[in-house]
Amino acid sequence: MKKLIILGGGYGGMTLLSRLISNLPYNIMVILIDKAPYHFLKTEFYALAAGTVSDEHIRVPFPKHPQVSILNAEVASIDRSVNAVNLVNGESMEYDDLVIGLGCEDNFHGITGAAEFTHSIQTKSKTQKTYTELNNLAAGAKVAIIGGGLSGVELASELAENRPDLNITLFDRGSTILSSYPPKVSAYVEKWFKDHHVKLHKNSNITLIEENTVFNKEDPLPFDCIVWTAGVMPSKIVADLTVEKDKKGRIILTNLHHLPADDKIFVVGDCASLNLPPSAQLAEKQAEQVAAVLIARWKGAKPPSLPPIKLKGVLGSLGKKHGFGFVANTALTGRIPRILKHSILWKNKNKKKS
Ligand SMILES: Cc1cc2nc3c(=O)[nH]c(=O)nc-3n(C[C@H](O)[C@H](O)[C@H](O)COP(=O)(O)OP(=O)(O)OC[C@H]3O[C@@H](n4cnc5c(N)ncnc54)[C@H](O)[C@@H]3O)c2cc1C
Repeated sequence: MKKLIILGGGYGGMTLLSRLISNLPYNIMVILIDKAPYHFLKTEFYALAAGTVSDEHIRVPFPKHPQVSILNAEVASIDRSVNAVNLVNGESMEYDDLVIGLGCEDNFHGITGAAEFTHSIQTKSKTQKTYTELNNLAAGAKVAIIGGGLSGVELASELAENRPDLNITLFDRGSTILSSYPPKVSAYVEKWFKDHHVKLHKNSNITLIEENTVFNKEDPLPFDCIVWTAGVMPSKIVADLTVEKDKKGRIILTNLHHLPADDKIFVVGDCASLNLPPSAQLAEKQAEQVAAVLIARWKGAKPPSLPPIKLKGVLGSLGKKHGFGFVANTALTGRIPRILKHSILWKNKNKKKS
């Protein structure tokens, strides 16, 4: 029996597993290792933090198959010299092929105090702690959200709608929030925030965080809770791996998605250096290609020729009724993108469950 180990059952790992299950030769066994007991829909963590969904609504069980084992454990490191994965519990597991899909963590950009004194929405357990903190705030409490990209905007709006009694401030270093979107989208989102009494601090420069204090351009501003949404970097396991990486710390791969120097190790999702910005959609599309490569290899066939990955666009929410997006080169604002986002989410969730 040959052993494929998949590290991480997020968007990349889960899609890969689902694709492989219907094509598994009798002599291949698969072990998926994840520290979480379910596949969690990370794209909904803003709602988990804001208290508008429970974790039960954003999780999907891992699929079952006689040749697949799901191991609920935390990975500590990868030892390429012996083709093994080391777990935090001290165990070690050898692989024939390995897929790394461990996602990302917060990037604090070296800002002192950011790791210690801010809350996170990058993992399920950290998001639940953030929820507890936000949920226990008294009326009138001040919340800072640092970073006006997709996740910061979704969190600020969901929280503003769920807890209109809170004073929410969203900080962004750009002259506009959602700077990678068309100006029409940024303008619409900024107006939504104005209408919902969310304060925007544009052109901000956070230099230091202390307990309950954000220093913007050296100016100390008091808050009851501070949430960090200002950037991500690949998992620490990947940071510790001595392989070639891009400027953002993502692993450089061949066009078949394995290491240039080791065709036994593939990387999917946020840990992979690809031509498009990391996203759940990208992780899934890339995982489909990794599955095609592995299936061909197991059959002894030539590697498939993989087309460039194309994405459909991106949709964001502003609370439960409004949204925004950029799809097929068209800026979308209002109720339609929100309805689209909701229906795509539940369609995907049900597809993964079946
Ligand atoms: C609030 C928010 C909103 C977002 N919205 C969107 C969106 O609308 N559209 C979009 O396309 N993308 C969105 N994203 C980005 C998207 O979630 C990521 O790009 C996507 O999750 C990447 O998939 P992945 O498979 O690389 O990693 P993940 O989905 O993060 O999966 C990584 C898995 O690895 C496991 N893991 C990590 N470390 C270990 C370890 N040491 N040991 C064992 N297991 C481990 C985790 O438990 C997890 O299951 C959003 C992100 C956030 C935070």
